[in-house]
Amino acid sequence: MTERFTGSFTQQEPIPEEGIAAAVEAMRHGRLHRYNLAPGEAGEVALLEEDFAAFTGARYCLAVASGGYAMATALRALGVGPGEPVLTNAFTLAPVPGAIASLGARPVYVGVTEELTIDLDELEARAGEARVLLLSHMRGHIADMDRLTAICDAAGLTVIEDCAHTMGAAWCGVPSGRHGAIGCYSTQTYKHMNSGEGGLIVTDDEELAARMVLLSGSYMLYDRHRAAPPPEAFERLKWETPNVSGRMDTLRAAILRPQLRVLPEKCAAWTARYRVLEAGLRGIPGLTLIERPEEERFVGSSFQFLLLDWPAEAVAEVVAACAARGVELKWFGAEEPVGFTSRYESWRYAPAPPMPATDRVLAGLLDMRLPLTFSLADCAQIARIVSEEVGARGARRTAAE
Ligand SMILES: *Cc1c(COP(=O)(O)O)cnc(C)c1O
Repeated sequence: MTERFTGSFTQQEPIPEEGIAAAVEAMRHGRLHRYNLAPGEAGEVALLEEDFAAFTGARYCLAVASGGYAMATALRALGVGPGEPVLTNAFTLAPVPGAIASLGARPVYVGVTEELTIDLDELEARAGEARVLLLSHMRGHIADMDRLTAICDAAGLTVIEDCAHTMGAAWCGVPSGRHGAIGCYSTQTYKHMNSGEGGLIVTDDEELAARMVLLSGSYMLYDRHRAAPPPEAFERLKWETPNVSGRMDTLRAAILRPQLRVLPEKCAAWTARYRVLEAGLRGIPGLTLIERPEEERFVGSSFQFLLLDWPAEAVAEVVAACAARGVELKWFGAEEPVGFTSRYESWRYAPAPPMPATDRVLAGLLDMRLPLTFSLADCAQIARIVSEEVGARGARRTAAE
């Protein structure tokens, strides 16, 4: 009998009881706006910012309404404006080019390698085309940040990091989000902390931090922050910075703070699940694993593999066969964008010249979520199902060559 997986790829863990209690307390007192504070009260949002600044080692932190809002705010703080080209990854999620487009600026895509990171040779060749790189650590794969930083420094490129999938990860011991000028994180349900929607921004730059606080809609109450620059830093900027409201509220911050306390153990639990899948899928003909560099401390909250150079029909067959056995694979090579898997050609508001090397990778790229509601045994079962479905077809393909 063929086995079938019955777990849900979209079911996250519940919110910790402590977070539920804090949320209920906030609803009882009713002060849900971050600046609506009782005398002597710091507020959950300011405390979350302080906690997250400490977690990442950043001087400043700002909590906002979403990861997409965080990136747009970072770009705006850097003065990116209409028509300006901004370099970014061809392999990323729609909110990344969307953040650039929201300012009337123009996404300029840099290709992806078989390691699923930004192509650094291409970045080096094109670094002169823009002032800012919005770097997406898509699906948690971190490029060689030493080389990337050297390229960007040499070209005068300012880096904003999109750490939606690397909260809790690091490169050579430096937390993801701390290599560039600004790091942006998401606390949307499918990321590493869950407040439904939400975002966090970190930076060491006083002026950028002050600008982003004003942009997020501080109503001149910036002295109620705890992880922001001192009031003097806002003196000049407050006259010239528009309010583009996108604050985080008390309720979300209340449920995030207890999650941040257990984030390191959650990250380890994700990576343990990832390693079980990886071990189960090693050595299957036709299936390419993404080898993780030693310098990278990654968070295995999702898993990717490649069926490189397989015909589209054969990949579609694998996807369908796995789905029939309860394993939901997302395919970046499908004709139409579905679910979360759109690719650069789907973003027709920002057309790109053909990128054959990137197309080859995306055509063979399969992806799955690994929620923490999966046990290690679940992951082993998923690996068995995928290896059977890929293995049979891969062996036939190898034999036919
Ligand atoms: C989820 C995600 C974001 C941010 O998304 P929001 O839904 O706006 O919080 C940014 N980049 C990537 C790669 C993502 O997956």
